Amino acid sequence: MRVHLTATAAAAVRRGHPWVYRDGVAGAAGRAASALGRGARAHRAVAAAAVSAASGEVIELAAEGAPFLGRGLWDADSPIAVRVFQRTQAPALDERAMAERLERAFALRDGWFAGRDTTAYRMCNGEGDRVPSLVIDRYDRVAVVRLDGGLLAPWIERLLPHLARALGARGVRSIGLRAPAGGGDAEGKKLAHLHGPPLPERVVVRELGVAMEVDLARGQKTGAFLDQRDNRARVRALAAGRRRALNLFSYAGGFSVAAALGGAGRVTSVDSASAAHATAQRTFRENGVDPAAHEFVTADAFDFLEKARARGDRYDLIVSDPPSFAPSERAKPRALGAYRRLHTAVARVLEPGGVLCAASCSSHISMEDFLGTLDDATLERDDLRVRALHGQPEDHPTLPAWWEGRYLKFVVLE
Ligand code: SAH
Repeated sequence: MRVHLTATAAAAVRRGHPWVYRDGVAGAAGRAASALGRGARAHRAVAAAAVSAASGEVIELAAEGAPFLGRGLWDADSPIAVRVFQRTQAPALDERAMAERLERAFALRDGWFAGRDTTAYRMCNGEGDRVPSLVIDRYDRVAVVRLDGGLLAPWIERLLPHLARALGARGVRSIGLRAPAGGGDAEGKKLAHLHGPPLPERVVVRELGVAMEVDLARGQKTGAFLDQRDNRARVRALAAGRRRALNLFSYAGGFSVAAALGGAGRVTSVDSASAAHATAQRTFRENGVDPAAHEFVTADAFDFLEKARARGDRYDLIVSDPPSFAPSERAKPRALGAYRRLHTAVARVLEPGGVLCAASCSSHISMEDFLGTLDDATLERDDLRVRALHGQPEDHPTLPAWWEGRYLKFVVLE
C-alpha cells in the first residue's frame, strides 16, 4: 500500500526521522484505487483514518512531488502510524532485510563486551539501530525481545529463525518476549518463551565487573535499566571517601551497590517498592557487601526527604533517578515542576561539598530544560557547579534526527 504524507511529515522522513504520526498521513492510494489503474485516481488521497492497512503491512511513503520517500510498516493502533525502515528502493522490505539490519546491530557490539566483565547489554536499540520498534537486551545467555507498538508482532515468527541463529552464534541460548507495557500474565509475569531452553526467572549478570541480579520475569523495562551502566560506574568512582550516600528511586540497587563498592561508608536506598530492595540486598551479597551495614527504606522519596531534613540527616553523595515524570509533551510543565520540587528537597539534605547526581529519563525534557530544574533558585544554594553531563551508553545508539531517542540525562553537580 502507498501512503501520502503531509509536507511536514515528508520533511521529517527525509531528515531520517523514523516516525510518521497519524496526522502526518495525508491519505492513501488504496488497493481498490490501485487496481483501477495508474491514473490520477490511483493517487487520490483518502482520509488518513480510512487507510485500511493492517499492523505490520509494508507501506510505501510518498508526498507531493516525491513519488518515493521510503518504506515502513503500518501500525493500526499506535499514534505513530508508520515506522520508517528505509529510504532507498532496494532491497525490498522483508525478513531478510530486517535480519541483515539485526546482524549489523549485533556485529557492531561484538568487540565491545568481549570479556566476561559485562554480560548484559542492549544488542538492538530499535530506531537507533535502524530496526524501528525492536529492542533486544542481552542478559548473559538470555535475550529479551521487546516490541514497541504492534507493527512487528506479525513478523516475529518469521524473524525468529534468523534471531536464533545470529544470537546463538554469540552465546545466547534462550530468547524471551517481553509483554508490552502494562501487560503480563495472571502471576504478573511479563516474559513469554520464544526459543531455546526454559527462561530463568532471575539471572545474575555482570556490569563492568559488578554482579547484578535481574528479575527477568517481573522486572521493569526488559528486566534492568541497562542504560545507566556507565553512570553507575561514574557513581562508583565518585563514592571514594564519602561518608553517607543516598540513592533515591533505587529499584534493584544498581547505584547503591556502585556507591558501596566505590567506598561510601553507609548507603541508604529509597524506593516505594519493597520487592526491589530484596533484589538489591541479594545483589549486595553477590558483590561481597553486607547489606546489614547499609539501609533500605521503603517509602515515597518526597516523604523520605522531608523527614530526613527534619531529622537533620545529611548526605555527601546523592543519586536521584526517578521514573519518567513526563510521558507526553502535554505533561511537560507538570513534570518540570515535579523535578524542581524533588531537587529542592534533595539539595536540603546535601552536605556542603557533597556531590549530586540527578537523572531524568523523559525524552520530552531536554538537557537544558533539566538543568533549569537544578539552578541556584531551585536548589536554594550557590555552591554547586556542573561537573559533568552524561547520557546513555554506546549500546543505546540514536539517529541525528531522532531526538526522542536521546532521553537519558545524568547531571553531576558538585
Ligand atoms: N535508578 C534505578 C532505576 C529507577 S526506576 C536503576 O538505575 O536501576 C524507578 C524506581 O522508582 C522504581 O523502582 C519505582 O518503584 C520507584 N518509585 C516510583 N515512584 C516512587 C516514589 N514516589 N518514591 C520512591 N520510589 C518511587
